[in-house]
Amino acid sequence: MEEKKKLVVGWFSFTCCEDSTILLTELLNDHLDEWKKLVEFRYIRPLKTKNSIEGLDVAFIEGAVSSEKQAEEVKKIRENAKYVVAIGSCACTGMPSASRNSFTEDMISERISWYMNNFDYGKKVQKLDEVIKVDDYVAGCPMGVQAFMDALNKYLKLFGIV
Ligand code: SF4
Repeated sequence: MEEKKKLVVGWFSFTCCEDSTILLTELLNDHLDEWKKLVEFRYIRPLKTKNSIEGLDVAFIEGAVSSEKQAEEVKKIRENAKYVVAIGSCACTGMPSASRNSFTEDMISERISWYMNNFDYGKKVQKLDEVIKVDDYVAGCPMGVQAFMDALNKYLKLFGIV
């Protein structure tokens, strides 16, 4: 018998505290059995070792974009996903990860300069839609659970899975 189509999902984290990822794993405590039948998590690094970004129906992206390398990565995800959903305040608005954008010269201590010069940081921290097209936003810090469930259900319906 032909296997039923599942929603092919990727879950990605960029510059952030990854609290929405923790929240997602908490949600799996209650929804794993139900989601296993409906969703294929094709990319979710905290939970799987074998991951692929190819052929995603929906990419959920948490975190802000803080370097050129990250910008390239999110562009690649966009190319491989039919829809992109920004997860949490950092991805939706940039904040709080983008706090450093408002630093004035006198606020940049030697220690901050050292970090800026020794790690791969762009000039400005960007929210996701400054870098790629975003189809939906799940606001909150961390993400609002109901808003996430609504977004997931929206795409399950859109792809004719439920
Ligand atoms: S939005 Fe809040 S909870 Fe989510 S990654 Fe950013 S700081 Fe963490």
